[in-house]
Amino acid sequence: MVVNLSDLFVADGNLPFEFSLDLSDLEFYGVYPLKTPTKVSGNIQSRAGIVTLQLKAEYLYSSPCDRCATPAEREYSLSIERTLVRELFDLDDERFIQIDGDELDLGEIARTEVILSVPGKFLCKPDCKGICDRCGANLNETSCDCYKEKIDPRLAALKDFFNE
Ligand SMILES: [Zn+2]
Ligand SMILES: [Zn+2]
Repeated sequence: MVVNLSDLFVADGNLPFEFSLDLSDLEFYGVYPLKTPTKVSGNIQSRAGIVTLQLKAEYLYSSPCDRCATPAEREYSLSIERTLVRELFDLDDERFIQIDGDELDLGEIARTEVILSVPGKFLCKPDCKGICDRCGANLNETSCDCYKEKIDPRLAALKDFFNE
């Protein structure tokens, strides 16, 4: 969604917006996790020559769990506030967005922010136990004996000796 800011740069006003954004083409680690449209909403406000963008994006992230590979999904939401300026003096200052001309592509901004916000590690639940790397059992559902302590037979013999 592209908005025209020419009025807001010369007079006070508001430009509320709400749209849905298709991000199903975004790929992370071989997965396309944004299967449903991302909901973007917010407002652009102009007060005394200062133009401020407030943008919120809500998305559903669907991906196999990084530990146990079970498909899972979770809702995420992000909010940003930026000052829109015609000229930017410090290119690294992320509080500002420079506007070339009068148009601002809100879809592009939302897309960038969603990419920056996606989880680096995605778990089906915070305490996911993962998969046994020896037998492949899903340790959330079952347990296995792979890492159970094996008692050394010589120690076992000693134990019997002392118990007698
Ligand atoms: Zn898991
Ligand atoms: Zn195992």
